[in-house]
Amino acid sequence: MNKDIATPIRTTEILKKYGFLFKKSLGQNFLIDPNILRRIVTTAGVTEETNVIEIGPGIGALTEHLARSANEVLAFEIDDRLLPILAETLSPYENVEIVHADILKANVHEVMGEKFSSPEAPLKIVANLPYYVTTPIILQLLHEKVPASSMTFMLQKEVAERISAKPGTKSYGSLSIAIQFYMVAELAFIVPKTVFMPQPNVDSAVIHLVKRETPAAMVHDETFFFEVTRAAFAQRRKTLWNNLVSKFPELKEQKNELEVRFSSLDIDLSRRGETFSIQEFAKISNELARFLKNH
Ligand code: SAM
Repeated sequence: MNKDIATPIRTTEILKKYGFLFKKSLGQNFLIDPNILRRIVTTAGVTEETNVIEIGPGIGALTEHLARSANEVLAFEIDDRLLPILAETLSPYENVEIVHADILKANVHEVMGEKFSSPEAPLKIVANLPYYVTTPIILQLLHEKVPASSMTFMLQKEVAERISAKPGTKSYGSLSIAIQFYMVAELAFIVPKTVFMPQPNVDSAVIHLVKRETPAAMVHDETFFFEVTRAAFAQRRKTLWNNLVSKFPELKEQKNELEVRFSSLDIDLSRRGETFSIQEFAKISNELARFLKNH
């Protein structure tokens, strides 16, 4: 087996050889601990049947661990200074393709069709995400319906807690719902700052998201559902009713009628948004859509 890229000595050697300077604006914190990389690959459940998409390979630390376990790896990297480095560090691995692209602008479906030699193999997404843009990347992958059975990400611990939060907790909010609507979310493990070069300012965690066969609740209009959930958390200390009226002022005149309708669904409008489950939010948005249409 080849020597790991992810050790302090080898990483420093590679960076020196190419005169590479980190760009903070691109969230460049490279992993330098092979044990953490092995844990990420195990958590993701990558096997030789799996194709993997990676976002932001850096100098290839995680990419090589994925390449050793997976069928094929396709990695999107925005920083062109890393391309010659990756060409060298990943030269022992024939099952890796690097694409020079911003993941937020790339047509992932099209690139997969072009670059994977067996695009029909089961797909997983695995990444140590750039921290300045973690949430937009995850939401875009979900909304573009990239056909991955799971997504395993290293990200800020605080974001990992928000993504996996349960109703009634401090971290629970519209991000928890946006992701748990499609995926079962589990915070797999916490990661100390010392395993990165340079060390980030915040603690990190690995989150494992497994795609649900069907979304967590039956919703008539997904766009409206997400609009309602965001509105319900616009001001966390306000009741659901007050947040809904701020978003839909026309409801104000209809409070009594709405209260009756919602109480027949077991929804108390004087509760705060953070107390409602995804299934309850589905009832709220389905009923509200019907109500607004008829008034
Ligand atoms: N995977 C490497 C590792 O674990 O050592 C590097 C991870 S580093 C946290 C994030 C990587 O994402 C960097 O290589 C950075 O250049 C890249 N990146 C930042 N924004 C990106 C974007 N929008 N699209 C693709 N890659 C991006």
